[in-house]
Amino acid sequence: MEKRLAGNVQTVLGLISPDELGLTLPHEHLLLDLTVRFQLTEESVTARVMAEKPVSLDMAGWLRFHLFENRDNLMLDDEELAIKEVFRFKLAGGRSVVDVTNWGIGQDPHALVRIAHATGLNIIMGTGYYTMDSGCAEVLKAKSEDEIFDDILRDIMVGTDGIRAGIIGEIGADSWPLHDIEIKSLRAAARAQRATGAALTIHPGRLEESPLQILQILDKAGADLSRVIMGHIDRTAYSFESMVEMAKTGCYLEFDCFSLEGYYPRRYGVFDTPNDAARVNYIIRLIDQGYLNQILISTDTAMKARLMAYGGPGYAHIPENVIPWMRAKGMPEEVINTITVENPKRVLTFAPASA
Ligand SMILES: [Zn+2]
Repeated sequence: MEKRLAGNVQTVLGLISPDELGLTLPHEHLLLDLTVRFQLTEESVTARVMAEKPVSLDMAGWLRFHLFENRDNLMLDDEELAIKEVFRFKLAGGRSVVDVTNWGIGQDPHALVRIAHATGLNIIMGTGYYTMDSGCAEVLKAKSEDEIFDDILRDIMVGTDGIRAGIIGEIGADSWPLHDIEIKSLRAAARAQRATGAALTIHPGRLEESPLQILQILDKAGADLSRVIMGHIDRTAYSFESMVEMAKTGCYLEFDCFSLEGYYPRRYGVFDTPNDAARVNYIIRLIDQGYLNQILISTDTAMKARLMAYGGPGYAHIPENVIPWMRAKGMPEEVINTITVENPKRVLTFAPASA
């Protein structure tokens, strides 16, 4: 059965040749429930009113800097809107989207099939468990490492009504200190990666130390680090040196928060998130150090405020804005193609499974 996967990419509509992927967004959400991240940071009545208002266009300015303080903002719950929004990416030359919405934040296989049919995009679905405080909290707590491993394996090999996952993750590991429950989930994911040949994508903690600790755990559990994607680099690593440390392990560094320039979640006290220009500069420096083949970019659109309908740049931001900036900075076409086409293709193509 593994032989069937090796050398192919698994979309929600079935296996395709890696050459069909084209311009790919490796870390997005088309439908999700991220209300687990909702937080009321102020006692005031005003904050409470803003927290419960349905998102509307006139809130775009406020939402830009209060991403987690409105509950409705954290729900992508309109399938027709999702189709319209992601179709813009296709019109801009996009071909494939990885939806890393997994267990705990509302993985929706049937909806992804409908969106794939409606848009003609290749859609690759994520699997495994999100963070231990998300919708999967009780399940994750109760299951053993072996059971989690089996769950992931089944979602890749059998799927839901034949709709199979094509990537493991985003595996949530953002507790600090890293909790045993999330370590168990990481270890199971690492083993499932080896057993299937799938790529493994990680949602790390917000401290700079978090990714390296996670990579160590994955390594010990037998993961192939050259097929691990460390996500959210741009909201986690604030020094070039720590990016290089990560790159040395051989993993992919995913700058997946492009267009997110108002990331100031008060509870983490993090205020150093780069803007898009700084992201591109980091990428250029990493390429200079020899890490071109480990760079991925995406927008991790996971909130209403980031959709065009609500005043955001939407899913087409990479081809419409970022790629032109890269050209303006003097990055050769070939390098841009490596980042946006070849790197996603390499990692999404199933490797031979090894038990
Ligand atoms: Zn994430």
